[in-house]
Amino acid sequence: MNRPASLILFGATGDLSRRMLLPSLYALHVDRLLPGGLNIVGTARSRLSDDEFRATARAAIEAHLPKDRVVTDRIEGFLARLRYLPVDVTTPDGFDDLAKAVGGSGGDLSIFLSTAPQFFEPTIAGLKAAGIADGARIGLEKPLGLDLETSRQINDAVANAFPEERTFRIDHYLGKETVQNLMVLRFANMMFEPLWNAGGIDHVQITVAETVGLEGRGGFYDDTGALRDMVQNHMLQLLALTAMEPPADLDSTSVRDEKVKVLRALRPVSDEEMVFGQYGPGSSAGEAAPGYLEDLGGTSDTETFVALKAHIDNWRWQGVPFYLRTGKRLAERRSEIVIQFKCVPHSIFASRGAKLTANRLVIRLQPEEYVRLLVMAKEPGLDRGEVTLRQVPLDLSLSETFKARPRRIAYERLLLDLIDGDPTLFVRRDEVEAQWRWVDAIRETRRKSGLDLKSYSAGGWGPAAGIALTERDGVSWND
Ligand code: NAP
Repeated sequence: MNRPASLILFGATGDLSRRMLLPSLYALHVDRLLPGGLNIVGTARSRLSDDEFRATARAAIEAHLPKDRVVTDRIEGFLARLRYLPVDVTTPDGFDDLAKAVGGSGGDLSIFLSTAPQFFEPTIAGLKAAGIADGARIGLEKPLGLDLETSRQINDAVANAFPEERTFRIDHYLGKETVQNLMVLRFANMMFEPLWNAGGIDHVQITVAETVGLEGRGGFYDDTGALRDMVQNHMLQLLALTAMEPPADLDSTSVRDEKVKVLRALRPVSDEEMVFGQYGPGSSAGEAAPGYLEDLGGTSDTETFVALKAHIDNWRWQGVPFYLRTGKRLAERRSEIVIQFKCVPHSIFASRGAKLTANRLVIRLQPEEYVRLLVMAKEPGLDRGEVTLRQVPLDLSLSETFKARPRRIAYERLLLDLIDGDPTLFVRRDEVEAQWRWVDAIRETRRKSGLDLKSYSAGGWGPAAGIALTERDGVSWND
């Protein structure tokens, strides 16, 4: 494999870089996973010297990596890889210096844009003009547009300098171990796949719940909302991995071909199948929490909660609803996929007074990482007439089973794959566009039917209508 010689990190002084990217790169360095000669060139608008940038990186590593992963005698070696060049990407100046820093055009070069998307176009134009784009790979952070049209504009601008096979669109959920484990669970075990369809599954729930409110991201979030911030990307990727057909291979084309087929088969959502909410005052972690408008300091009809009943129109999933919900200021921080199996067709225990509960598979992505299968068991006892059955968990705690292994940041996997040139865990353009097409139609339906925004108290599980969305089908959210 051709190892890249350099990585250019745009937005190197920003929040994402300090919290995730620099600590991830350092963790890869400690584990000797970075190519020996890899130079990392940080760039942003601030006028820093190499040493000042190294000091920023050191502070970021110490602040954001768990103590046991900060191997102090390896830091100097990592910092020696770092250089810094100030470039204001809105002007053409500075790109030639960047080209010199990475040894001109061609060669093994990875580029990561951790800047706001309005800077993508000028950055790409600058990279192209300086000859840096030739042969290089580019990693792009979300948000890739605000709708299909703006996403196409960004993708066209990128395609102008980087062909699709060298474009790495990041959805950091795909870097999470449990998300990759979903494929292993489905396709490395015989027992699930024969039941993984409308014959065996009643419905699927996907929840991404946050307890936090705006956290100072007011402007960005208010322009975006929960549907575009969470559903359009992360939740649809989870849905696609849950619902896709078995790919013939683990290569990037096979996996992404199967995901995009699911995304294209999503049925437009009707106005009765969508709920939008915004948090009002309430409580969070035992303390009073202000409502969204107070957090924002203005008026707004942006949703901080959305619940949807989605359908995938293909043979495998006919009649199986996929309930999705996400929100801020909810009762718990939790991301999970719940597969609700059907009941057995006939209970031989009914005449003995036992009630059966259908099997349920819970794939918890965060904060814990586990896979839990709920199965029926008999309560011990010498019953003569009645039998008592109870649902018990078969637990696979990934954090416990693999506790000797460090819990890695999702960006470690993604940065390594970008550097290695493996696009399997990155989102292809046709996937992003299928995601936007479905989400744009939801926004249009909401607008046309004038759906109101339901208020909910901070610290609960969202508006009553979000609960009614499943309850009227006889389904309860896995709270
Ligand atoms: P941020 O803290 O505001 O950092 C922005 C970076 O862009 C800074 O390094 C800044 O440099 C640089 N920049 C701004 N204007 C520039 C210009 N004209 N020329 C060159 N560089 C310029 O933002 P962030 O939170 O790191 O987020 C970066 C991107 O990742 C955004 O698109 C965001 O939506 C996305 N994202 C962030 C997170 C997260 O957790 N933070 C998560 C997912 C996605 P100076 O500071 O030196 O001016």
